[in-house]
Amino acid sequence: MDVMSSHGKTNLRQLIVRLQTDFPKIIFEESTHFKWNADKKIIFYSLNVDHPIWSLLHELGHMKLAHTEYLTDVSLLHMETAAWQKAKELGCHYGFVVDEEYVQDCIDSYREWLHQRSTCPTCSQTGLEDKAGSYICINCKSSWHVTPNRLGRVYRKIKDPSLH
Ligand SMILES: [Zn+2]
Ligand SMILES: [Zn+2]
Repeated sequence: MDVMSSHGKTNLRQLIVRLQTDFPKIIFEESTHFKWNADKKIIFYSLNVDHPIWSLLHELGHMKLAHTEYLTDVSLLHMETAAWQKAKELGCHYGFVVDEEYVQDCIDSYREWLHQRSTCPTCSQTGLEDKAGSYICINCKSSWHVTPNRLGRVYRKIKDPSLH
């Protein structure tokens, strides 16, 4: 069942009108990408993605769960997973079915991202994140840094979430 793609834009606008009524303190602002800004209470949305409603519900999930910037890579994975869970609940409330396969693809992409960051560049064992952006390898004692990342940039097919 894919009603979203055929009427995506119309439904998105209708949903935003409804959300603005339900969440009067939140600003919904059109942008080039989806993002929840916890400081300014803005949900940025884009009309130019494949599944804007699911993405909007996902950002709304971050908002409902009061997510702010994450501290560690593992906590980002937890937050993203929780936001998708919330998106499904919100979807029920607003009459949209968030496709489970899509959600699993997104969560897989976060896992893959985490895997890439946590793999030791020297011996390929999985390292431990000792503090935000810094990993150590128990096996060979290497340590490495990863670029800071921010919440909510990891969507399917995006190879480098740090750009989003
Ligand atoms: Zn190693
Ligand atoms: Zn997110």
